[in-house]
Amino acid sequence: MISLTDVTKVYPGGVTALAGVSLHIGGGELVAIVGPSGSGKSTMLNVLGTLDRPTSGSVHIGGYDVGRLSDAKLSALRASRIGFVFQQFHLASGTAALDNVADGLLYSGLRSGERRRRAAAALERVGLGHRMDHEPHELSGGERQRVAVARAVAGDPPLLLADEPTGALDSASGAGVMRLMRELHAAGTTVVIITHDREIAESLPRQVRMRDGRVVADSARRDAAVSGVS
Ligand code: ADP
Ligand code: MG
Repeated sequence: MISLTDVTKVYPGGVTALAGVSLHIGGGELVAIVGPSGSGKSTMLNVLGTLDRPTSGSVHIGGYDVGRLSDAKLSALRASRIGFVFQQFHLASGTAALDNVADGLLYSGLRSGERRRRAAAALERVGLGHRMDHEPHELSGGERQRVAVARAVAGDPPLLLADEPTGALDSASGAGVMRLMRELHAAGTTVVIITHDREIAESLPRQVRMRDGRVVADSARRDAAVSGVS
């Protein structure tokens, strides 16, 4: 479902964040991305999620060659196929949970009533049916992240990308968010999770390890490069 082929990313200013990454993730996988801070994990997730374009190399998502799509087509692809969850939730303050989730469907082409209906269903799904009217400051960290997960999946995207989704949570709340991720995976969503948490990473079926902008180990590939030589 997703392939990166020889992807590099050099930021303006000259930092090479990705130094030739090739990675294939099949539909229905649940994958942990691990590696030290600065190793390129977030950059890779952003490229996977079409939030950022690579400097060179190609990205295929669900049959589309992302590099050949216009920005408008890319936005449409992202809105319909990819959900994102970030460490810091990124919810709109002063906005009820229901509206935070419904606003995530603004680009879906659905009418307002249908957006709200789907948002309510997504909040029920993450166990927050009783918190729909609460604003982010009236929710715990774990609840905020569950709102963010509801927003990410309200449109039923086949792909969910999460960048340190438990990084700002206590371990009980983090476990709740991970339980949700597993449920989504069990229901057929392809899920990719960046995590610093060893226990979480080891509990997932596949681990991809990055260092210095490269994939240095991949539990799905016994022959993965171990020293940057591939
Ligand atoms: P990780 O998520 O593994 O901590 P990142 O992908 O965030 O790593 O960063 C990889 C490298 O790219 C780091 O050296 C970081 O400082 C640099 N970097 C990340 N984002 C930017 C940016 N927007 N502009 C310039 N350099 C960046
Ligand atoms: Mg990061």
